Amino acid sequence: KKQLINFEELSQILCGAADVDEQLQQLLQLFQFSDSERSLRELLMSLMQEVFSEFFPGCKILPFGSSVNTFDVRGCDMDLFLDLENTKTFQATGVQGAESDIQSDTRSEDSILSDIDLETSTPAEILELVATVLQKCVPGVHKVQAVTTARLPVVKFIHKESGLQGDISINNRLAVRNTKFLQLCSSVDQRVRPLVYAVRHWAKQKQLAGNPFGGGPLLNNYAVTLLVVFFLQNRTPAILPTVNHLKELAEGEDHCIIDGWDCTFLNDPSKVDASENSESLCVLLADFFKLYAQFDFAGTVISLREGKARPVTEFIKPDSHRHLKFGPINIQDPFELSHNVAGNINERSGQRFKRQSDEAFKYCRSLQFQRKSNKGKMWGIVRLFQPLSSADCSPNVLTIPFKLSALSEQTRKSLHGSLDFREVWFDKVCHAVLYVMESVLKCSCFGQSGEGDDTAGGADRSLDAVDEKEDEGFEEEICSGSKRPCEAEELAGTSAPKKPRLGGLRYQGEVRWHCSVWNKVWVGRRKMRRQLYRSPNKADAETSDNPGILDLEEKVTDAMLRQEGNEVKPSPLFEVQLVVFLVGGNGDTRTVIRVTPLQQTALFPEFFHFLQLFVPKMTEKYIERLD
Ligand code: ATP
Ligand code: MG
Repeated sequence: KKQLINFEELSQILCGAADVDEQLQQLLQLFQFSDSERSLRELLMSLMQEVFSEFFPGCKILPFGSSVNTFDVRGCDMDLFLDLENTKTFQATGVQGAESDIQSDTRSEDSILSDIDLETSTPAEILELVATVLQKCVPGVHKVQAVTTARLPVVKFIHKESGLQGDISINNRLAVRNTKFLQLCSSVDQRVRPLVYAVRHWAKQKQLAGNPFGGGPLLNNYAVTLLVVFFLQNRTPAILPTVNHLKELAEGEDHCIIDGWDCTFLNDPSKVDASENSESLCVLLADFFKLYAQFDFAGTVISLREGKARPVTEFIKPDSHRHLKFGPINIQDPFELSHNVAGNINERSGQRFKRQSDEAFKYCRSLQFQRKSNKGKMWGIVRLFQPLSSADCSPNVLTIPFKLSALSEQTRKSLHGSLDFREVWFDKVCHAVLYVMESVLKCSCFGQSGEGDDTAGGADRSLDAVDEKEDEGFEEEICSGSKRPCEAEELAGTSAPKKPRLGGLRYQGEVRWHCSVWNKVWVGRRKMRRQLYRSPNKADAETSDNPGILDLEEKVTDAMLRQEGNEVKPSPLFEVQLVVFLVGGNGDTRTVIRVTPLQQTALFPEFFHFLQLFVPKMTEKYIERLD
């Protein structure tokens, strides 16, 4: 499988260019398909067209997405739409050889012995047929899998020789049309492609788009591309026309309605007047970041139809079920108007996008961006593509929502009408987190002083709980201390909460620990848990709201350590800093934990990923149990 060029190689090539504009053109050349990759895809498609036509008479295979939208990147996936509009039946008797193959397939025995009326079949059934044909009759294709439960059901496959991954869908005419729209944008102005490549690559490297480790909801490439198009619609003079303008220019053939949405726009780029804007790519790229660094994402909807950002309030349509789902970033699909293309983004990714745009913008104002370095330093767009360092990854945050039901009747009563219930909850969460890290996961934690940290300065610095014994004995004390059920009770219900023995310097609603991780307690944990579940105590282990779940998880860790031989290690695998704090602002009751790796380690992302689910769940159980 073709690997994309890595950062070092890319850096070396781009730093040799004469200026930023040349760098951007080079990037395009390096990333776009080679001739051989393009022809491989074309060949594969015509092969599929041939085979599918035998079974689905009149069908058409239409490519969409990055293979054809002019933003192709070597090795990108291949998105195909199987158009069955003119196909009434599935013909089991398509090809002699294939026929017997298919009929002998026991898995789909009853479905394929005779012709099938597609009009009465469900999309899932049709996709299963597509999968069978693909598997049995298209040579060189393997790992065929129908994924019928996804938001957009597809059949996935891999082309063996090239490693190329592909998706076939049957309900995606809108995507074919919006691909046409992106193609049109590229042909209207030649600055579109280099800019989109640069922004896509920046977003990928900064982990804002794509899905590198399955690490949370990120923007997809389509959304990123729309952000560039919108930006170009908003230059003065404009570089790209609005979608409404393209609709006005449309002629007979261009008219098109899909799923009730008007997808009409001029298809012929030569009929769009060339832009009078002559800005350089270098200026445009810098201003792209400037626009989005300062953008009011949450309060506005980005409309490519109008080429304007409109206040969200204009899009609230109480009488219509077709309204946008608002989120931290709102990009209205230019055709399916009720669809927020960035609707999958969470608060955190939204903020990260803005922060990274701001950083990129600041960098683009520096001389280092604009001028070639003659000392061999990194310059120009290269720095924008620097992968995130562990420091940039911060904040790696996990959130623990306030949950009244986790508190006992007594605590609830005592909190009645109280304003500092956030603090009371926060104290409980802190105890719980420490318990989970130490007793359940067997990490060693000690409180950290905030020296050298700017949050520690200032007059409002208050040392709520000072525990100066930062030695081994101290650790033990925390361990046992946090197990004492009476402590949590002490905390609740008093007007001046007892100082928690959290073993850290405590600033206004902030506690920090240094945690050493000794074992990979997240690797194979589920399997180990299953093994223990099968043990005689099965009955009480299986109820998910069972208070014994903490003990069980502790046993899981113990068992994992035993499996490793309980060896005493000279040093931990790695260390992290945990900062636990309340989100500022009234009305926000969440507790947030920021986890920062203290060493570069490839283990951190998986560890953090595990904590993200594990800690909030266990914290809630701990509080339920002890309160
Ligand atoms: P890449 O595969 O390199 O990430 P892509 O453009 O092919 O880029 P995919 O996620 O594979 O991105 O999506 C394929 C196509 O499906 C897009 O080009 C677009 O036409 C359509 N599409 C994807 N996501 C959306 C969306 N949220 N709303 C509307 N159409 C979308
Ligand atoms: Mg794709």
